[in-house]
Amino acid sequence: MRILVTGGAGFIGSEYVRMLLGATGGDAEPPVREPDVVTVLDKLTYSGNPANLDPVRDDPRLRFVQGDICDPALVDEVVPGHDVIVHLAAESHVDRSIAGAAPFVTTNVLGTQTLLDAALRHGIRRFVHVSTDEVYGSIDEGSWTETWPLAPNSPYSASKAGSDLLALAYHRTHGMDVVVTRSSNNYGPYQFPEKVIPLFVTNLLDGGTVPLYGDGGNVRDWLHVHDHCRGIALVQQKGRPGEVYHIGGGTELTNRELTGRLLEACGAGWDRVDPVPDRKGHDRRYSLDTTKISKELGYAPSIDLERGLAATVRWYRDNRAWWEPLR
Ligand code: NAD
Repeated sequence: MRILVTGGAGFIGSEYVRMLLGATGGDAEPPVREPDVVTVLDKLTYSGNPANLDPVRDDPRLRFVQGDICDPALVDEVVPGHDVIVHLAAESHVDRSIAGAAPFVTTNVLGTQTLLDAALRHGIRRFVHVSTDEVYGSIDEGSWTETWPLAPNSPYSASKAGSDLLALAYHRTHGMDVVVTRSSNNYGPYQFPEKVIPLFVTNLLDGGTVPLYGDGGNVRDWLHVHDHCRGIALVQQKGRPGEVYHIGGGTELTNRELTGRLLEACGAGWDRVDPVPDRKGHDRRYSLDTTKISKELGYAPSIDLERGLAATVRWYRDNRAWWEPLR
């Protein structure tokens, strides 16, 4: 099996690559078959970091190509010879999309279309498109199922929704074997320190304050990155073509509750919290119904939030050399 992972030097993509190549732990065995080749295609934007692949750097099965998924000539060169594409490359930070949407539309929409075209042209057996719960907008009560209408609110989530629809359209129009995953908020090691958990932890470890948006009442479901990748691997192997699968953590917290847990884990008090004006268009609550992946593919997260957060804080404490140059 030859697997092409786009965005494989980012937070989630690098965990997927480390998992494929057997360099990541966890109680639950990752549901992967030994690949023959894992090719990473990554532009190395500000959030892509070759150091994320250090644990597998010497694995002879790993190939690294630095390049842009929006470059049709390059993509056309890299794609042939692979059985599966797992597509994670994206512009991924909501606040950046509010400051400027252009790179989001370019990479997330045009980049995905460029890859889909190459996959179609070269007869790739399966295309796994990794997406987000944010495409549904915000939900006050209950949980979204996979057939829920898309109603994204930020330029980031709108560009991801566009890419999801394109991927599914290539299945319907061309009969391509496409599967889409949508997950909740990820946390864990190697996450760029602009996202809330690594931002708060690294600020606290440095003796600083943490910015809490609005009233802190926004609710997110938290999923350890390793469990997300276990879910993607299951979908890669057993998901039905043309289907969408939710991957959730089953642990909803308000941002205020999350902040309390991080303060405690870092031995800090509420005097270290700096309330800031709310994010524009801030979605109030995300919540995924995960019945489908659990019933069809036997998926359940393996790392509970308390243990996962403690391990994550420990990782940032022990790996200053990784994050200090990124701040
Ligand atoms: P990330 O920003 O850490 O990584 C993105 C990677 O893509 C980086 O390595 C970057 O260099 C690369 N990249 C960006 N533009 C590129 C381009 N034009 N060509 C090639 N490579 C490019 O993001 P992440 O958090 O690891 O997210 C990965 C995927 O998972 C994204 O598609 C995101 O939408 C999705 N997702 C993320 C979360 C989350 O909580 N982080 C939740 C659900 C879904």
